[in-house]
Amino acid sequence: MQTGLFVFLLVIYGLTIGSFLNVVALRLPAGESIVYPPSRCPRCHTRLRSADLVPIFSWLFLRSKCRYCQASIHWQYPVVEAVTGILWGMVGWRYGWSGETVFGLVFVSFLVVLSVIDLHELILPDVLTYPLLGVALIARAFTGGHAWWNYLAGGALGAGILLLLAWLSPYLFGKEGMGLGDVKLMAGIGMAVGLAGSLVTLFIASFSGLLAGLFLRWTNQLREGGHLPFGPFLSLGAVIAYLWGDPLVQWYANLFV
Ligand SMILES: [Zn+2]
Repeated sequence: MQTGLFVFLLVIYGLTIGSFLNVVALRLPAGESIVYPPSRCPRCHTRLRSADLVPIFSWLFLRSKCRYCQASIHWQYPVVEAVTGILWGMVGWRYGWSGETVFGLVFVSFLVVLSVIDLHELILPDVLTYPLLGVALIARAFTGGHAWWNYLAGGALGAGILLLLAWLSPYLFGKEGMGLGDVKLMAGIGMAVGLAGSLVTLFIASFSGLLAGLFLRWTNQLREGGHLPFGPFLSLGAVIAYLWGDPLVQWYANLFV
């Protein structure tokens, strides 16, 4: 298949999966079933028809309102759909028609749903972080540009660094910093991106998290001692490391040689 067509199809599928990830992110922390009942308006509970469920377009055409009760629909829905579609397309673009792409699509989908939940609830549920680690452990036995031990070491090192920070931060900063959810997420990410990718992930996550924290503090949106979820930043770093980790490391190494 042509790359262009393949990527296009993945974007379309990704948009639809993004719509499902919205449902998972909303229902999973509330302990609700993710398959039943079918999608409905959170306010009037009217069951949504397929015309109401077209990713992004329904939201645009309905002017971000429920067709039945006019309740406004949060912009998070189309944004999660678009981000998932774009990420699926990028994975297909980067890894083509391969087993790596199959794993990559699962990987980025986990990252999207975990980020949304962390932003809302400040938690990274075990029911998602453990399966992500499991999927990565199995996938890396079959696919990947590095040896299996490299991925294993990436997971151990990444999670180890965050675990150390979680232990030390009460002494260093006088408050809880990293949560154990971040440690478990990082184990799965490291297992997916390998040793160098793990360091790229942590570097980008800390840097972008710091910038976001400073910006929010500066605009008074984050109170003193307020918590910023780290999962979305780890996910951002992970996506960059997954898609461009090796060229980035190469470029960085060339600076010193
Ligand atoms: Zn409604």
